[in-house]
Amino acid sequence: MTASDCSTLGGGVGFTLDTPPVLSRTVVMRDEPIRADRARQLAAWPSAQLVVLDEGGRTPVDWGGLRRPRDRWDMISGSGARLLTRPTEGDAPPEDAVLLGEHDGVAYWAVRGQVDLVAGEDPTDWADLRTVGAALDALGAGLLTGAVAVLNWHAAALFCTRDGSPMHPRAAGWHRVCEANGHEEYPRTDPAVICLVHDGRAGEDARVLLARQPVWPEGRFSVLAGFVEAGESLEACVAREIHEEVGVTVRDVTYLGSQAWPFPRSLMLGFHALADPDAPLRPADGEIAEAMWVTKADLRLALADGDWSGTDGARRLLLPGRVSIARSMLESWAASP
Ligand SMILES: [Zn+2]
Repeated sequence: MTASDCSTLGGGVGFTLDTPPVLSRTVVMRDEPIRADRARQLAAWPSAQLVVLDEGGRTPVDWGGLRRPRDRWDMISGSGARLLTRPTEGDAPPEDAVLLGEHDGVAYWAVRGQVDLVAGEDPTDWADLRTVGAALDALGAGLLTGAVAVLNWHAAALFCTRDGSPMHPRAAGWHRVCEANGHEEYPRTDPAVICLVHDGRAGEDARVLLARQPVWPEGRFSVLAGFVEAGESLEACVAREIHEEVGVTVRDVTYLGSQAWPFPRSLMLGFHALADPDAPLRPADGEIAEAMWVTKADLRLALADGDWSGTDGARRLLLPGRVSIARSMLESWAASP
C-alpha cells in the first residue's frame, strides 16, 4: 500500500467500537460522596449485598444453564450467568469492606472470602472475572470488576510506600492512611495500551496485524499490547510497543475505548493505527512467537466459529475470549465495511 492509499482515508478514519467492552458495561453508581456518608452507609447496611471474593479472585456464580468452562483458557459463549451476592450480617460494615456503589436502592460491598457466607448453596460454582465476566449482565460484570480491582489493591497496599508503616482503609475502602504520618494512598491502576494495527483499506481484502505470544497455544493470535512507561504518552507507547514487538512503524494512532483489566491492576486503553502490510515483520525474541497479517474475510470466518476454546486444536485461527477488549476491537473491525 502506498502512502496516498492511506491518506485518502484521512487521519484516524477507520472504525469505532460497536458496543462497549464487556467489563465496561457497569451500571453501579459509584459516586464519591456516598463513600464519606457514614450515616447513609449504616442505614443501607441491613439491606446491602456483599460480593465475596476468595484469595484467587473467585466468586460464587450461578451459571444459569451455561456450560461450565473446562480450564482457564476456555471462554464460554452466551449470557445468563448470575453473580451470587450475599446478605449482610451485623450492624455495620467490617473495616476491610469496600463500598462498590448503589443500584436500584441497594448498596453493594466487596469483601474478601468469608466461606461461612457462601456455604451450602446449589447450583453454584466459584469463578473468576476472566472466566465469567462476559456471561454476566452489566450489573454483575461491573460489580465483579470493581471488587477484583479494589480488593487487589488493598492486598498490595498494607504498608506505606514512604515509611513502611501499616496503613488502614478509610472512605468505605477507597483510600488508605498511614498510621504513623497520615500519608494517604489511593487505588493504583497501571495503564496499558492495546492496538489493532490495520492497513486502512476497506473490503474483505483489508488486513489486520495479529501476533502470538510464546506462552499461548499454537494458533492463538491477538492484537498487540504493552504497558505504558513512566513519563510516556499513550500514542508514543503504541508506536514504541508495536515497533519493539514486530518491527512495524505505525501512524494515525486513534483512540477506540477502554476497560479495566484488574489482573492485577491494569486499565486497557484500546487504539487502532495504520501500518504498511508490505513492511517486513520482525517478531521480538521471547515476546512474540509469530506475527502475521490476516484478511478481514479470514477474521470473519474465525469469529463465526464462536468463542475460542483451548482444547479445540482443529481451528486454524483462535481468537481472544469475549471478556477481553481485544475481542471487542477485532469484532468491530471485522464488522466495518
Ligand atoms: Zn507513611
